Amino acid sequence: MKHLVIIGAGISGLCAAHEAARHRSEVAGGLDILVLEASPAVGGKARTVKRDGWLVETGPAAYLDNEPEFDELLARTGIAGEKVEANEAAARRYLLHGRLREVKANPLAFARSGIVGPMGLLRMMAEPFIRRAGLERAAAESVWDFARRRLGVEAADKLIAPMVLGVFAGDARRLSVSACFPRLVALERDHGSLIRGMIAARKKRARDQRFSSGPSGKLVSFRRGLQSVAVALAESDGFTVRCDAKVETVEAVTAADEGADRGPPRYRVLVGGDAAPIEASAVIAAGEAFANADAVADIAPEVAAALRQIATPPVVVVALGYRPQAASSFPTGFGVLIPRAQGYRILGSIWDSQLFAGRSPDGHVLVRAMLGGSVDPDVAALDDDALVELVRDELARIFGLTSVPVFSEVKNWRRAIPQYDLEHPSRVARIEAALEHTPGLFLAGNGLHGVAFSKSAVTGIRQGRRAALWLAGAPSVTGTDP
Ligand SMILES: Cc1cc2nc3c(=O)[nH]c(=O)nc-3n(C[C@H](O)[C@H](O)[C@H](O)COP(=O)(O)OP(=O)(O)OC[C@H]3O[C@@H](n4cnc5c(N)ncnc54)[C@H](O)[C@@H]3O)c2cc1C
Repeated sequence: MKHLVIIGAGISGLCAAHEAARHRSEVAGGLDILVLEASPAVGGKARTVKRDGWLVETGPAAYLDNEPEFDELLARTGIAGEKVEANEAAARRYLLHGRLREVKANPLAFARSGIVGPMGLLRMMAEPFIRRAGLERAAAESVWDFARRRLGVEAADKLIAPMVLGVFAGDARRLSVSACFPRLVALERDHGSLIRGMIAARKKRARDQRFSSGPSGKLVSFRRGLQSVAVALAESDGFTVRCDAKVETVEAVTAADEGADRGPPRYRVLVGGDAAPIEASAVIAAGEAFANADAVADIAPEVAAALRQIATPPVVVVALGYRPQAASSFPTGFGVLIPRAQGYRILGSIWDSQLFAGRSPDGHVLVRAMLGGSVDPDVAALDDDALVELVRDELARIFGLTSVPVFSEVKNWRRAIPQYDLEHPSRVARIEAALEHTPGLFLAGNGLHGVAFSKSAVTGIRQGRRAALWLAGAPSVTGTDP
């Protein structure tokens, strides 16, 4: 019997367990799979709070349904039937630029929105004629530099930088475009232009409806929130999940320990408290980058050192609920991004009760605001009351909202979203090379190859499959494989 231990029961670790379990029969002698989770509940950042008729996502609320591997995994569980598409309102997005302005997809309507001035618009329209850069240059560029080169300074400042705040809670000038938005780099590489590439992608999507969601995907969630996906996965057959079990470290089992006639296990997993050490033939570290670093430091010091360099600043989510009368203060839409230059601490706000049914009681309004990130980490030092007050005040100023909230929920993620900085691509290469020397150790989670909920899931699926195949005797399987 081989033993696979997975560290972390976020979406990545649970998908890894689910996929490894699917390949159990390929492992001679059988495969036992154990997921260890430090906290009392599964889901990691996917944490749904239900109270007094409100359903609040304190982490991810929805994802783009564009990963067929994740879809296929969900289809094998009962939870797939609970998937819900966002209402049409989700297609309308706003930017604060003096006042609220809708970011229109139609070029003429966008031009009229006033977000970008006439010179900025002309520069954006020139994008198809800007020569493509060599791959090396694009690989070394920040998101902001890439956007400035292709679209001009105004678009980089007014459109792209707020978008980066919305996805990474990060600074577009410090994050790597090839690590954060590989699809943009691929559009330039393959089509010589983002605009030409997007037009080609749209045509291809219309021709080739291989999966209904298409490459850009529909925005989806689940009737009972995203944590319910993790709960459903944790309840599936083929593996065991143990909560309140923090992995302190993973040790290599030395030859002397093993005795002459013993093959695997290779690792011993030490769990906090009085729990006995757990033997493992392979380990998948599916925690956050910094947590994976601590767990694997003994067996893979180079991997740990590189993982520790990945900054993970805080994000605070403040959810406020208002009586139905407040609905008229918010336009129809997904939410608003707030560029730093506008002078607010809120990075963006999402209008949840417009997106999915069942998020608020009887027509009440549920709004979430995000703060912090690498651009304002100090905000996480405020206590919950001060955070609610700050968000109330800023929402009142932005939306002219006079209503008093009747509900609030605050979640202060002290270390929330990994920042893929300019060193990230070379760091990932170093980690992958170092993993070659630690057979039986696999890395999942969102630390390396994408922070979207569905991307973390796919990373887990691939690592789960690789670990199972490795245990089944496929010798060439190592590394992190995106
Ligand atoms: C506020 C916020 C909003 C977000 N919004 C969105 C969104 O709308 N859409 C989207 O697509 N993405 C969103 N994301 C990103 C997305 O939620 C995450 O990237 C994804 O959920 C990460 O999943 P994961 O399994 O890799 O890691 P996590 O969810 O972080 O799970 C890691 C788990 O490992 C456990 N762990 C760590 N160390 C140990 C140890 N030593 N022993 C045992 N267990 C351990 C942790 O307790 C945790 O449960 C958001 C993230 C945040 C923070």
